[in-house]
Amino acid sequence: MSRPSKAIIDLAALRHNYATARRIHGGRVLATLKANAYGHGSVACAKALEPMADGLAVAFLEEALALRRADVSSPILILEGCFSAAELKEAHAQGCWVVVHHEAQLRALEEAAQPVRDMNVWLKLDSGMGRAGFPVEHAQAAYARLHACPQVGAVTLMSHLASADEPDKDQTARQLAAFDAATAGLPGPQSLANSAGLLAWPAARRDWARPGILLFGADPMPGGQHGLKPVMTLQSEVFAVRELRAGQSLGYGGRFVADAPCRVGLVAVGYADGYPRSVADGTPVAIDGLRSRIIGRVSMDMLTVDLTALPHAGIGSVVELWGASVSVHEVAMAAGTIAYELLCHVQRVPREHVGLDADRPATARGIRQTREDCL
Ligand SMILES: *Cc1c(COP(=O)(O)O)cnc(C)c1O
Repeated sequence: MSRPSKAIIDLAALRHNYATARRIHGGRVLATLKANAYGHGSVACAKALEPMADGLAVAFLEEALALRRADVSSPILILEGCFSAAELKEAHAQGCWVVVHHEAQLRALEEAAQPVRDMNVWLKLDSGMGRAGFPVEHAQAAYARLHACPQVGAVTLMSHLASADEPDKDQTARQLAAFDAATAGLPGPQSLANSAGLLAWPAARRDWARPGILLFGADPMPGGQHGLKPVMTLQSEVFAVRELRAGQSLGYGGRFVADAPCRVGLVAVGYADGYPRSVADGTPVAIDGLRSRIIGRVSMDMLTVDLTALPHAGIGSVVELWGASVSVHEVAMAAGTIAYELLCHVQRVPREHVGLDADRPATARGIRQTREDCL
């Protein structure tokens, strides 16, 4: 028997969220599956989305190659582009689309002798984020150079939004204006929107959107009500129970001190599994579907939860660290970070993919159980 900790990945919810994104967007939508699909397992997610998605996006070539090795044949856009001529050649051989966002990448492309005019290139402009992308003043020249390359078949104009999740800021409107001015008269499809851009900025939707986080059910908009479903349930069980006397302390540094007699559940998940060490006492968890709290510091392989108000909870009680009852966003807030970071860090626990395979009623029941627990 291995420890009962796992990340349950609901692929039906993933497909629901993709369909929601496409309905809101109305055009074509790349499913962004970088960083092992934000910790959800990129091969399983790609296979679940492939029949419905217009294409996929990853950050790096090696992420695209892992999908190709698993027989994923959709178009895959490489968001950070290639790091060498050899990578560019491999990307092309694997039918990947490449972003070109700085001079060395453009030169490598100009020097890549390809016999046919079939490279699909996304020219990335810096419309105000100040990070990757050609300065907008160079947009027309970079576009002309790409078009002059005999191996380039299609050019998509793209940029990335720095503050799309903050609708009260005017940075997004300024980025859109800068992008439109820089690309005036240039033909070809356009792509500006990440998840927040897609949800909150109709003017940013353009031809192709590139959502990531919303696919996993974490709405990037404060208080967002878009009907997204959480995809990951990070779950374990209570494996031991301790009683603390009033005045007794718990865990590293003795941070938590019981002010009254207290029942503590031990759970085999720690910061090495991606649960953040930085959370304070009181951070929510759900135990057999009822909300309780973390007490004591999170250690590498274990954390401790308060069972005092849950007399029926004990060894074997299901502990949801995040999922349908406790949103990953709540835990991220408690940790002073964002849902993206927590999800990406889920790598050590086994992933159990459910929701699509009708041949596995037991696991399908497992996830329904999780949902009912929180009603
Ligand atoms: C990661 C990434 C996205 C997806 O962003 P979300 O906020 O997760 O939707 C889109 N475009 C680029 C260039 C990215 O790097």
